[in-house]
Amino acid sequence: MKIVIASHNPKKRWEIEAILGGLGVAVLPAEKTAFVEVEEDAPDFAGNARKKAEAFLAANGVPALADDSGLCVDALDGAPGVRSARFAGENASDVDNNALLLDRLQGVANRRARFVCAMHLALPDGRAITAEGRVEGRILEAPDGGGGFGYDPLFFCPELGKSFAAATPEEKAAVSHRGRALRALAERLAAVLG
Ligand code: IMP
Repeated sequence: MKIVIASHNPKKRWEIEAILGGLGVAVLPAEKTAFVEVEEDAPDFAGNARKKAEAFLAANGVPALADDSGLCVDALDGAPGVRSARFAGENASDVDNNALLLDRLQGVANRRARFVCAMHLALPDGRAITAEGRVEGRILEAPDGGGGFGYDPLFFCPELGKSFAAATPEEKAAVSHRGRALRALAERLAAVLG
């Protein structure tokens, strides 16, 4: 099966391709994918993933996989949540978003948080395969590690005993919200393909 990934983010694409690689699913390269602007205005991750997957299926005519993901912090009532990429403003950088997060959590003892990822694979025959993955952790007092992207330097993962930015890509993919969602999706896809 050939699919398109509905994301410009090279690091995200890399994580997805690495996990799908072993499953006989070929990912069309970004330069062969028709990209469409999709407003991510759904109230939840699953709704945004569905919007993106359906738009990319319509534009490319092959199965389209979209993920929508973000960081949910207990002390911030689940924020930044679906607004994770835009937490510090429409064109905010990762550095801006991380700085705002640290600011909002200054003096806050409860630093529990989780990454959540919704995956939606839209198929040309109208069917859809969906999955969700989560990983629990806590927000550090200062950035740690040079890898990953987004909030990785501030996310301490107890399962790994280090921040996501200090983990190798393989270590992160083994426990991450995206890795878990993708593996669940791949299992369901294998069942559908028979
Ligand atoms: P999306 O591209 O709409 O799913 O936005 C996801 C945003 O959530 C990213 O821009 C990051 O800020 C954050 N995010 C999602 N997954 C991760 C991750 O694995 N590590 C760090 N930040 C993430």
